Amino acid sequence: MITKFIKRILRRDPMVKHTQANNTGAPKRIPKKAHRIDPHLLSKNAVKVTHTLQQAGYEAFIVGGAVRDLALGIGPKDFDVATNATPDQVQRLFRKARLIGRRFQIVHVTFFGKGHPEIIEVSTFRALLDNAGDHVAESGRILRDNVWGSQGEDAARRDFTINAMYYDPSSETVLDYHGGMADMQKKTLRMIGDPAKRYREDPVRMLRAVRFAAKTGFELDSATREPIAKLGKLLNDVPSARLFDEILKLLMSGYSWKAIQGLKDAGLHHGLLPLLDHILDKGEDSKGANDFVKLALANTDDRIQSGKSVSAGFLFATLLWPDLLKNWKANSAKGMANIPALHDAMDDTIATQSSGMTIQRRFESDMREIWSMQPRFERRVGRYPYRLIESPRFRAGYDFMLLRCATGELNSTIGQWWTDFIAADPAGQDELMASVKNESGNSQSPAKRRRRRKPKSVVPPESAAS
Ligand code: ATP
Ligand code: MG
Repeated sequence: MITKFIKRILRRDPMVKHTQANNTGAPKRIPKKAHRIDPHLLSKNAVKVTHTLQQAGYEAFIVGGAVRDLALGIGPKDFDVATNATPDQVQRLFRKARLIGRRFQIVHVTFFGKGHPEIIEVSTFRALLDNAGDHVAESGRILRDNVWGSQGEDAARRDFTINAMYYDPSSETVLDYHGGMADMQKKTLRMIGDPAKRYREDPVRMLRAVRFAAKTGFELDSATREPIAKLGKLLNDVPSARLFDEILKLLMSGYSWKAIQGLKDAGLHHGLLPLLDHILDKGEDSKGANDFVKLALANTDDRIQSGKSVSAGFLFATLLWPDLLKNWKANSAKGMANIPALHDAMDDTIATQSSGMTIQRRFESDMREIWSMQPRFERRVGRYPYRLIESPRFRAGYDFMLLRCATGELNSTIGQWWTDFIAADPAGQDELMASVKNESGNSQSPAKRRRRRKPKSVVPPESAAS
């Protein structure tokens, strides 16, 4: 018993000098009856992690977005835990624990249950960067973010007051260092500290402000909103991969249309997606494109809000489609054959996009597959429909085609035909094939027009196949 106690004390040792180094004020302790967090919304695994850490003598809390969502009565999509144990100490306590990252070391504790494995991200309380200045000079960049600190410092490093609350499942108490709970009641999104300084430290926080405002329906506090107009251009210096991650989170938030409007209102959309530039800036001019994107985003939001999965490749394919269509039509007007015109337009569209924010390669190939399938939906003769339906990405291409029908870009009889074709038995499919012969002029797309003039370009090259 005594040795166990001594071990606990020794384990705490690395924390001692840092916790004493900075004191950022005592937190407000909010009891259960005031925060009303429903314990049923907690992840059992997250509770296991905090419990195990506490049993070993450490402090451990659920933190960040999970506490914000719990206080809003929403089931969080993932759970983060913050502790005063160092990553090594955390790792020793769990069987499936992996150290992740160098500059910002955290531990992923994985639980295998019935469904997908759940990863609980455990991070050690960090010191404020300002106070870690000596460490930067002495130890270099890698160590900089791994300077452990007190819980108060850890709270002060976080972005918004509503993201800086700590929940202890054992006592069902929330520790609130920056008035997050009061801001929740006022429905206000407020940056901790001096907003302009915090945006300079990390410009991505401006995008996060827009995303959380859209998600929670909260208003940005005026001091938090005001510097964004002037500092938005700092986003140009953020590495493309980080920007991509954040935009993806924004688009997958379940409130993407609202968030995109928020980007426009904040003047932050420039250079992120060329498409956003021209849709949001030109308004009426690009009404068709606007309708398409709006529908695609509404569709995505619906799916996410009802717990369905969404493919990022599909989403980016829809966002860039109006650009692609414009380039495709321009190539066709120059006399290029239909399919090469499409492929050339795909290259152009992706190149233009990459000059702003590069879309990751794995999503790019999905986009190309979905796009190159589109002319094939209009080719309802011979073996083509039977082959198309066998494509591994058929479903995505088909859903995309239905969106084009819904905005009137493609004749909706084609969409209906494919819906029937998928559902039909072989005899029914033959009947549908025969019915196409009796249809006339059912397509307004450049593909169809092109085919009539130049029969040789009709057959989509196999490169169009997935
Ligand atoms: P989501 O619901 O999207 O997961 P979240 O608030 O949990 O929202 P994460 O990106 O998962 O967002 O980050 C977890 C926590 O880490 C945040 O709640 C915040 O406290 C802190 N954090 C994340 N990014 C930043 C940042 N750029 N600056 C300061 N604090 C941040
Ligand atoms: Mg999170």
